[in-house]
Amino acid sequence: MAENEEVALAIEGGPRVRSGPFPALPHRFGEEEFAQVREALEQQTLFYWHGRKCKDFCRAYARLYGVPYCHMVSSGTAALHCATAAVGIGPGDEVITTPMTDQGTVIAILAQGGVPIFADLDPHTYNLTADTIRERLTERTRAVIVVHLAGNPADLDPILELCREAEIPLIEDCAQAYMARYKGRLVGTLGDLGCFSLNDFKHISAGDGGMVLTRNDTYAERVRFFLDKGYDRLGMVRRPTGFAMNYRPTELQGAVALAQLKRLPWICESRRQMGDLLSRQLEGIPGIHPHHVDPSSECSYWFYMGRIDPTAFSVSRDEFLQAVAAEGVPVTPGYIGRLVYENPLFQDREAFPGKPYPWDGVYGRSDIRYDPGLCPVAEEIESTAWRCLVHEGWTVREVNDVAAAFRKVAARFTTNPQPTN
Ligand SMILES: *Cc1c(COP(=O)(O)O)cnc(C)c1O
Repeated sequence: MAENEEVALAIEGGPRVRSGPFPALPHRFGEEEFAQVREALEQQTLFYWHGRKCKDFCRAYARLYGVPYCHMVSSGTAALHCATAAVGIGPGDEVITTPMTDQGTVIAILAQGGVPIFADLDPHTYNLTADTIRERLTERTRAVIVVHLAGNPADLDPILELCREAEIPLIEDCAQAYMARYKGRLVGTLGDLGCFSLNDFKHISAGDGGMVLTRNDTYAERVRFFLDKGYDRLGMVRRPTGFAMNYRPTELQGAVALAQLKRLPWICESRRQMGDLLSRQLEGIPGIHPHHVDPSSECSYWFYMGRIDPTAFSVSRDEFLQAVAAEGVPVTPGYIGRLVYENPLFQDREAFPGKPYPWDGVYGRSDIRYDPGLCPVAEEIESTAWRCLVHEGWTVREVNDVAAAFRKVAARFTTNPQPTN
């Protein structure tokens, strides 16, 4: 708008777009959680196999997602590790995944001695695509872990087709993607296994915790054993076969998760409305790319991430965002500052102190490198992205203010002034 160009930016001493603070997350734990935790304690056992809470939670979550099996575990990372173990990842096996994710995704691969192989991303959904995965397939590829980043579903149909052709399983990392839908179907139910996180920062929290969903009988049984030291608690014989972890959740986590489940649809629906509205308002601001969600998908926005076209403005991405933030709007640069492979673990290829494993040439290939330029689109996303919290405490007013701040700053720094008439 022409008027905006005459108003000084807040960073230059002008009036802010937003003077008051943004709303905090609404109360997350209330009577429902207190009651569930009390009931859990009154059971006089907090053991997941003896109490009701974890079992009731798993049944409810499986029903919500329409799959036969749900196992609860102690974290999202544990859920992913159960999944890589269930599909049989072992030393030297290559697992293709995204470089823009939480460390938990790669821990699940390395914990089995697998070799993380990073594929590039779509420039505006920030997700893996069938084409980028295909470029990384080798005869050693044993699985793909797709991450629905920020709650935005990856384009799964072509990925599923690729995995079927290559005869490798697909694991969905849904830690950021509660209630997200791909062509109407909930993500986490389309691949071979779907993994979720209940850590304290996700859409819902049990402090920590995770879930593994599957329709596959064999995988379900392997997860059941793997999360509990290899014990068969359904059978009479407790003789573990093979390596397993202790990823048992406690009844306290089950109780809180059960209560949180009631809030989940509302939380995801509010975020979806606010995020989609922000995209509509940002469309048409030259140089600002909204978070692209396919029209046939539903994104549940664990956060909102857009991009800036660096050629469109006379200032750097960081200077631009400082000006937006000064308008009173909560934006920060990038996803988490660096891609997973830019960390020392991959730069030095040292997962286990002093040991070259799994890149030792015995199990894994020794010629795998994680040099800059490995995933050029992902690197470009990280250096041009901006991130903004969107949550269920927001109203249309917050969306309006974020869009207004971007519009104001963009008008001021554009290198291509639009004629005003
Ligand atoms: C949070 C997260 C995880 C790990 O979950 P934890 O419960 O913290 O172990 C894994 N993958 C992604 C994409 C995440 O966001």
